[in-house]
Amino acid sequence: NRYPEVRPQKLRQALAKRFGCEPEQLLVTRGSSEAIDLVIRTFCQSETGSVLTTTPSFSMYRHYAEVQGARIIEVPTLAEQDFVIDVDAILEACDDSTRLLFVCSPNNPTGTTLPRADLERLLKLRGDQSAIVVDEAYVEFGDKPSVIELLGRFDNLLVLRTLSKALGFAGARCGGVAGPAPVIRMLSAVQAPYALATPVVECVEDALQANQLELARKTVAEIIDERERLAEALRRYDFVTKVWPSDANFLLIRVDDAARVMRRCGEEKVLLRHFGGGLDDCIRISIGTPEENDKLLRALDMLKEDRNA
Ligand code: PMP
Repeated sequence: NRYPEVRPQKLRQALAKRFGCEPEQLLVTRGSSEAIDLVIRTFCQSETGSVLTTTPSFSMYRHYAEVQGARIIEVPTLAEQDFVIDVDAILEACDDSTRLLFVCSPNNPTGTTLPRADLERLLKLRGDQSAIVVDEAYVEFGDKPSVIELLGRFDNLLVLRTLSKALGFAGARCGGVAGPAPVIRMLSAVQAPYALATPVVECVEDALQANQLELARKTVAEIIDERERLAEALRRYDFVTKVWPSDANFLLIRVDDAARVMRRCGEEKVLLRHFGGGLDDCIRISIGTPEENDKLLRALDMLKEDRNA
C-alpha cells in the first residue's frame, strides 16, 4: 500500500472527461513525450517498421523513432503554402512497413491546424496499415475542436494530449494518449508500472478542480488575445517579412536577418527560438504576458532605430 496505483483510475476518469473520451480510451502518461515513445515502441519493430512525419514539426517523433531503430520517412510541408500537409505526398511516401504517421496539430513550430478532411482521408486510406497519431499539445489555443471526437469512427486514430501547455503544468509531467480501448490496453502493457507518482496524481487532480480550470481558461484566452495583438504589431516592422497565422501559443515569423534579430533581442533579455534548415530566417516567438510581449516589441523598436541610424 506504499506504492501508488499501477494506473491512476480517478485521474484517468477526470482526464477522459476533460479530453472528451471514455476512460477505457485513455492511458495517462508522463507528459505527451512518454506517449510518443510508448506508441513508437508498441507499434514499430526495431529495424523493420517505419514512422512517417512531416517537416518542419516537433523533433521528438524522429528522436524516439531513432531510439527504437525505426526508419523515418519525412514529408516536407512548404512555407510558401502556409505549411499545409500534402496528403497525396504522404500517401505516396508510405510503404508496407509504415506503422505510424505523426501529425502535429496545431503544428509546432508553424501553428498550422490539420484540416479535418485531410485527417479523415489519411485515416480512411491508411486503414489497417498505419495508425495516425495526432499530437494535440496546443489544441486549446486554436478554435477547432479536438479530433478525439472521431475516435468512435476510426480504429486507427490515436490522439496525444498534455497538461503542459494550456494548463501550464509542464512540471507535473502529465498527459495522455487516447485511442481505441484494445490499443490503449496494449500501450498500458508497455508502460512502466506505477508510472505516475502519488504527489503528481494528487497535484494534477487538484489542478483539474473547476476553479483551477477556470483560471487556466482565462490565461489561454489572454494568450490568444496577445497572440493576435502581437501578430498585428509584428507585421508593421519592415524587416518582418512574414507572420504566419497560428492556432498555438506561439507565432512563427520570417525576418530578413534572423541572426541580427536574435542578437538584439538577446541583449534585451528576450529569448526567441531561431530555426535553421528549411526554416531559414524564421523565428518562433512564444506568447508571454502582456508585459513580456511589450518588452519584445521595445527590443524590435530598438532594432528598427539601429537600422535607420
Ligand atoms: N508535442 C509537442 C508538439 C510539443 O511541442 C511538446 C513539448 N514541447 C510535446 C509534445 C511534449 O510535451 P509534454 O511531454 O510536456 O506533454
